[in-house]
Amino acid sequence: MNTKPQKKGIVPTMIDDAAQAKIETHPLRRGISVLEGSGGNIAVLTGKEGQLLIDSGFTASKARILEALNNLSADPITQLINTHWHVDHTDGNDWVHSAGATITAHENTKKHLSTSTRVEGWQYTFPPSPAGALPTTTFNDEHHVRHNDTNIELKYYGPAHTDSDISVVFEEADVIHVGDTLWNGTYPFIDYSTGGSIDGMIRATERNRSVVTDSTIVIPGHGPIGNKATLTEFRDMLTSIRNNVAALKKQGKSLSETIAAKPTAAYDAKWGQFLITAAFFVTLVYSGV
Ligand SMILES: [Zn+2]
Repeated sequence: MNTKPQKKGIVPTMIDDAAQAKIETHPLRRGISVLEGSGGNIAVLTGKEGQLLIDSGFTASKARILEALNNLSADPITQLINTHWHVDHTDGNDWVHSAGATITAHENTKKHLSTSTRVEGWQYTFPPSPAGALPTTTFNDEHHVRHNDTNIELKYYGPAHTDSDISVVFEEADVIHVGDTLWNGTYPFIDYSTGGSIDGMIRATERNRSVVTDSTIVIPGHGPIGNKATLTEFRDMLTSIRNNVAALKKQGKSLSETIAAKPTAAYDAKWGQFLITAAFFVTLVYSGV
């Protein structure tokens, strides 16, 4: 594991969870499945050219991820795509690369993994990743991969949850992995330290809505598999809380006064039950409006 315990917080909590978590496999369609349980959702495309993974979870879950992959197919892992640079999506890069995979990501993913990077919202400083964990192919705007008879389109969002987020579309299957631009059923983390913002999240969500249809399967970074309705509900939650927080800030309310005014009250029962509490989410939104 390339993360050292620092102040007990979100990152150590995520690693502890991953060390114990069961990996659940959700078959979708056309050889695509999702492994849930180790950090972000991992998508897998099986086939004769080898398994292609989207995101690598936490190294603490390696044995259970391998078991789940072996249950899907006997193919070796030949390609890995990272949706963004965060540790819960890239910690396993090193072992997946050692297993034989190339790694494709946005150029800012490589940039952040290559150096010591502080995430203020997590009160955590990540050391540079080992050389084997770094992307071997990077791009800026768009990149196309043909693998296992499937066209795969990778597209940069611009600054959203971080400054390294990409969407990955499996064209024939009509499946999209939107990384951490969508957290299904929980308030999202937004990483201002590396270019994320509430307005960037809303823009990314609008783009996600505009590229899917009612039959598209939407894989979020965290939470259960969703669809266009999930994106609409998420957009409405983000927009409403953004407007509530902006109005309070405009009235001159401090952060603690804004939290006390409960601008998320209508949403907390559904969205506030995971790592990102209502107060923390208000803090993230407040700094961006
Ligand atoms: Zn993330």
